[in-house]
Amino acid sequence: MTWINRFTALGPAFSAQVLPTPVPQPSWVCRNFQLSHSLGLPPDWLENPEGLAVFSGNGLWEGMQAQASVYSGHQFGHWAGQLGDGRALCLGEYEGPQGAVEIQLKGAGKTPFSRMGDGRAVLRSSIREFLCSEAMAGLGIPTTRALCITSSPKPVLREELETASIVTRTAPSFIRFGHFEHFANEPAPSGPAHLRQLADFVIQHYFKDENFSTSNPYAGLLAHVTSRTAKLIAQWQSVGFCHGVMNTDNMSILGLTLDYGPFQFLDGFNPQHICNHSDHQGRYAYGRQAQVAYWNLFCLGQALMPLIDDQDLAVKALETYKKVFSENWSQCFLGKLGLQVQEDEAAALEDQTLLNDGLEMLAKEQVDFSIFWRKLSHAASKTEASSLEWQAVADMFIDQSAWVGWRDRYLSRLQSKPSEAAVKKMLSINPKYVLRNHLAEAAIQKSKLGDHSEVETLFKLLQSPFDEQMHFDHYANLPPDWAAQIEISCSS
Ligand code: AMP
Ligand code: MG
Repeated sequence: MTWINRFTALGPAFSAQVLPTPVPQPSWVCRNFQLSHSLGLPPDWLENPEGLAVFSGNGLWEGMQAQASVYSGHQFGHWAGQLGDGRALCLGEYEGPQGAVEIQLKGAGKTPFSRMGDGRAVLRSSIREFLCSEAMAGLGIPTTRALCITSSPKPVLREELETASIVTRTAPSFIRFGHFEHFANEPAPSGPAHLRQLADFVIQHYFKDENFSTSNPYAGLLAHVTSRTAKLIAQWQSVGFCHGVMNTDNMSILGLTLDYGPFQFLDGFNPQHICNHSDHQGRYAYGRQAQVAYWNLFCLGQALMPLIDDQDLAVKALETYKKVFSENWSQCFLGKLGLQVQEDEAAALEDQTLLNDGLEMLAKEQVDFSIFWRKLSHAASKTEASSLEWQAVADMFIDQSAWVGWRDRYLSRLQSKPSEAAVKKMLSINPKYVLRNHLAEAAIQKSKLGDHSEVETLFKLLQSPFDEQMHFDHYANLPPDWAAQIEISCSS
């Protein structure tokens, strides 16, 4: 096995070497053999007792160098100072045939950055993180991945007594905006030196295939992160994903979805929807995510300022956000309608108005976001508004005159029947299955009783969210009434 551990090699200013804390009687909850295969990891990792020991924090393979990294960050708009991997532990960076990948345990015990926390994760939060990582991957949205979940009867105290569980995550890197903020806030001479070391490391290893202005690579880095983040948020919006805790320490420098906590896929479309029970101000509401990401990028820009050393260049890099976000947002959302961004300005504006009016109509009645788009995808192939498919969409609205008005505009925009290919494309953009809160909750409740079959079912289902998978139709239904009562807060 080849362990290259390049982040650890940056030195003790960046991470603390710390061993995972063992748990009693570990067992597998779910294993992602497909991911293991696609990353080219040794197949026996997920098969044998040695693997179970490693992925539950009870052992290491030779060559691994477990470490927790230090970072800082802005939480809910305020500088929070030093944070760091309080319950995440990177076991090492593995160089496989498909490239290098970091293997990280979440919930493997205390680290020097645990502060008041216990370093643990519970079964509930590990299942949510595992399933959502893989659901996002299934949707084609950049994300950290999840290799497996292990659990132990070890009690862990949250609002009530729960049990310990560990999710193993993989990513090329888990470096966050907060890593840069950390060193930018460290005094000279070490702070600036470490900041440069980190930026050079990130550029060299993770942006080596990107175009960089050689005169100012740090402005180039900021521009690339800005662009990746803008694209990511546009994709989140288009599937109704609400992250819930977009603190700068939860923002990936690679533009990956990172740290799944109180996330939610919207049920009814409500731009003001807040999925994090602790977010009293609605800072991270669904409809605020684009602005918040921009705010977070400003924090990153500020941290990189000593390296960029040119305010105009930094502002220019950040300003690409608005263009990239709105272009990607339009592309994603028009795609949901089966349309493409038009070159002609007047025609493009007309499409944009149609789209915005449609979203406003959905918001007014809080129509189910995923079901609406999926039903519309099926209807779009029929020209007859009286067809069953169009009737199924109509049935989602109380205000029928608003619906009919919008529908007729849309139908006339489609003019003739859209091609089979266009409809197929809509069905590959508008997912049938998303990880709604109540689906995850049902799987969690079963798992708590020792039956992990529902986790497995959801995992398989969500890997192909655009496929009909008829036997699972009921997983694409409206949420039950009790779903509205599910409350999820920051750390669980
Ligand atoms: P989060 O809200 O999950 O992004 O966590 C924010 C910070 O708190 C990070 O530095 C985490 O490592 C830390 N943290 C969260 N939960 C725990 C825990 N149970 N034990 C130790 N540290 C934690
Ligand atoms: Mg976090």
